[in-house]
Amino acid sequence: MSGQIKETSGSAAADASISLAEERCKAAGERLTPARREAYRAMLEQDKPLSAYELIAVLEELKGKKIAPLTVYRHLDFLIRVGLVHRLESTHSYVACVHPDHAHETHYLLCSECGSADEVESRALGSLLDEIADRHGFQPENAIVEIKGVCGDCATDEEK
Ligand SMILES: [Zn+2]
Ligand SMILES: [Zn+2]
Repeated sequence: MSGQIKETSGSAAADASISLAEERCKAAGERLTPARREAYRAMLEQDKPLSAYELIAVLEELKGKKIAPLTVYRHLDFLIRVGLVHRLESTHSYVACVHPDHAHETHYLLCSECGSADEVESRALGSLLDEIADRHGFQPENAIVEIKGVCGDCATDEEK
């Protein structure tokens, strides 16, 4: 595993994700309203998963005014429903999807040192999970795999 190539979180990358997200919403008959887009962009521009309250703080900072938590929760519900944001169960936080162009199962490598959350895709793991569920006659709704540990960057820092 190379593990060294990281998705840049600069604005160009955010713009690219947003246009993919708009297409995805359109295809699903949903609308990425300006407020929803703003919430999604704010999450894209963070390097780390955010709790709902951290997201509210980021958006309030951007807007320069108070935002009702319920509004932000509604944006989050929408973004999760259309698959643009994933919820990390183990840390009760939210993270923008890095490949918003298609539906997929979610697998994360969570670093306990720097708090980064790298989204990885593995068809092999996806079909293995389906197979396990199938064997147990279980109907999975969503399968989020969260692997905790130390990321490549932090592991290298420790060796120095
Ligand atoms: Zn994703
Ligand atoms: Zn790390």
